Amino acid sequence: MKSFFDYERPELAATLHPSFRATQLFKAVYQRRVENLDSITELSKGERAALASEWDIRLPALYRRFESVDGTRRYLLQLADGELAETVFIPEETRNTICISSQVGCALACTFCLTGQLGLTRNLTAGEMVTQVLFAQRDNLSEEQIDSFNIVLMGMGEPLHNYDNVMKAIRILHDKHGLNMSMSRMTLSTAGLLPAIQRLAAEPHIPNLAISLTGATNTKRNELMPINRKYPLEELLAAVRQFPLKHRQRVTFEYVLLKGVTDSLEDAQNLVKLLRGIRAKVNLIPLNEADELDYRRPSEMAIQRFQQVLIDNGIAAYVRKNRGNDISAACGQLKKMVV
Ligand code: SF4
Repeated sequence: MKSFFDYERPELAATLHPSFRATQLFKAVYQRRVENLDSITELSKGERAALASEWDIRLPALYRRFESVDGTRRYLLQLADGELAETVFIPEETRNTICISSQVGCALACTFCLTGQLGLTRNLTAGEMVTQVLFAQRDNLSEEQIDSFNIVLMGMGEPLHNYDNVMKAIRILHDKHGLNMSMSRMTLSTAGLLPAIQRLAAEPHIPNLAISLTGATNTKRNELMPINRKYPLEELLAAVRQFPLKHRQRVTFEYVLLKGVTDSLEDAQNLVKLLRGIRAKVNLIPLNEADELDYRRPSEMAIQRFQQVLIDNGIAAYVRKNRGNDISAACGQLKKMVV
């Protein structure tokens, strides 16, 4: 059986006769959310049986679901080989966010991130990313709200390390006969894989770009994010300056605030210098502390002081609220915890 969710509509059309069946199937599965090909009544019984013997439209099984007191839900979804994909649904008043993983584990070993301690097990397929979105959508949103969510690729893994599958998933989610997610509702977050950022810049459809920065000098970033030794800040920022942005679009920079490491006034001023001339927005993420990490969260005063330096220099800076901390769903906490 082939996973339906691994296929873009043109690929599907090339395997089906007549080819417009691909559009019919996309609409039925992604828009009407049929869970059984046999319920697509515009097809003959014979056609339905033939399709059902070839295409699998089941979502992954739920291994565990964790509910936070703040409404955030963390899911462990069981994949065909038994591995677990981690997905988070974050409800908000104006918009909901579905945070999906692109890999099981991560190879980049950032020192402040629990996922980085796992190492990389494997890349996820396009279908395994698409079905994370569908699972969280169907489990959380009523018919009236069914489209009111954004997607962020900020779960486990470095998305640009799994470039082809990630871009395929984005195209499937963007398909107008499928979920019809506009590019402005999807954000891809990278630790800074330079050649892949340049490749992304040349794509016909580009999601929002977020850069995980956490370190405003090479000395600091080399220590916190080993990828910086290969692609140092000046080269990374030069690529970001070249990145095509639409009218009013900005690049998001995520900056984890670590007490005594990245939270000083000097760090804030270095960040201001680094971002000069870039249409940037900064998300400050006070560390979500964990026993396995040697770092600590800064005081509220230090967080506010840091934010104010950015604002005073004309940079839009927001402090990310801690969501799902009690269920290990917060940023940098995803590590397949099953309790
Ligand atoms: S912060 Fe992102 S890139 Fe770094 S180890 Fe964690 S998941 Fe990987």
